[in-house]
Amino acid sequence: MDLEYGERYEAFRRQIVAFLWQYRSKRPPGHIYDMPRAELSGWLELLIEHGYWARTIPKEYGGFGAAPDLLETVIMDEEFNRAGVARGMMAQGPSMLVPTLLEHGSEEQKRTWIKPTMRAEFLWCQGYSEPGAGSDLASLQTRATEDGDDFLINGQKIWTSSADKAEMMFILVRTEPDAPKHGGISYVLLPMDTPGIDVQPLRTMSGDLGENSFNQVFFTDVRVPRTNVVGQRGNGWAIANATLVHERNSLNANAESTLLRLIRLMKNETVNGVPAIASPVFRDRLMRLQGRVLAMKAHSMRVLTNNLKGEPPGLTGFVVKLQNCQLNFDVASLAIDVMGELGVLYDHSKYEREHAFWQTHSFLSLGFIIGGGTAQIQKNIIAERGLGLPREPKPAKTAGA
Ligand SMILES: Cc1cc2nc3c(=O)[nH]c(=O)nc-3n(C[C@H](O)[C@H](O)[C@H](O)COP(=O)(O)OP(=O)(O)OC[C@H]3O[C@@H](n4cnc5c(N)ncnc54)[C@H](O)[C@@H]3O)c2cc1C
Repeated sequence: MDLEYGERYEAFRRQIVAFLWQYRSKRPPGHIYDMPRAELSGWLELLIEHGYWARTIPKEYGGFGAAPDLLETVIMDEEFNRAGVARGMMAQGPSMLVPTLLEHGSEEQKRTWIKPTMRAEFLWCQGYSEPGAGSDLASLQTRATEDGDDFLINGQKIWTSSADKAEMMFILVRTEPDAPKHGGISYVLLPMDTPGIDVQPLRTMSGDLGENSFNQVFFTDVRVPRTNVVGQRGNGWAIANATLVHERNSLNANAESTLLRLIRLMKNETVNGVPAIASPVFRDRLMRLQGRVLAMKAHSMRVLTNNLKGEPPGLTGFVVKLQNCQLNFDVASLAIDVMGELGVLYDHSKYEREHAFWQTHSFLSLGFIIGGGTAQIQKNIIAERGLGLPREPKPAKTAGA
């Protein structure tokens, strides 16, 4: 394993540092989603022009058109993270739908949707989960019946992040109700302003109905052209799984920079007048977390080396998703414990630390242990497919069921 990047890549790094300095006045202030939409689109456009966003997306679909190069990606992430600037937008459209369309979309779908999605002209939400279909997603019941050149959609989705803000949804519907469970599902692109769509917000444990909003969405005779199906009709399960691979990859936020932030906090916060970092109990927890962060970093380098050699990723995506989501939550938990009674403050109190970063990070990372496939499901897959352990016993069927 070679841990040096080499001169060509170091020159690329210098170019990024110079870009970030030159455009410092245009950088997003604080959180990228706090920017007005037009400004956000302008920032993304600037990034695309310089090749720091949509870098490998072909020019004809509105990208920069560079050849894939994982080391360049790593260096871009390192430098943007170091500068505390968002390199693009980790939303469902760019991180999940666009790569799926590149693999499975029709030429027309690619030309219509990729360019505006990468510029935040369209925000997307993911219509997968239903009240009876979460981990067992293939049980979904939302139906689409044919009506001339259209489908009519009826049913309900739940836990739909950002459905209240999105202009578009990629949705899984059952087009062939008599087909076997994993067959007869279609993957459809649906404008959210179509009549018959009712979005109802759900309050989360953070009391939040805003930025990280959850919703349930009801569909009554929602008309969508049949040409909005991605891939073959009835073959949506394979396409849904392609999106899930990209979703897992987007949930791999490295905990290293958060750990460094935690160390800063532990130097500043005191317990009985002594910095928290000097407390043997907190220090012990910090050391354990640091060990896990370093292990994940080494694992990422191994995954990167495999990728560069063109070796198949196997189950690494499941391992990264499982470990990183839990690790991010555990780092936030230590920060909250270190703050003592201030750690439980949430609602914009003047005693809050770092604008409630740690509380928000804790709730979000706890959610990500569930979203995109729960930890238990990741463990089942790693155990069964990776380690070859016996399959989980299915509950016995009762007579007549
Ligand atoms: C932050 C967040 C964002 C989300 N965003 C979206 C979104 O935008 N769009 C969308 O469609 N969905 C979204 N979801 C929903 C998410 O995909 C589901 O919550 C998840 O798939 C689990 O489904 P469920 O909630 O129905 O739980 P269930 O499937 O009912 O599971 C309940 C519990 O049982 C366990 N369990 C279930 N089956 C097994 C098994 N076979 N073996 C062992 N344990 C099992 C689960 O691990 C879990 O602990 C989001 C969820 C979260 C938390």
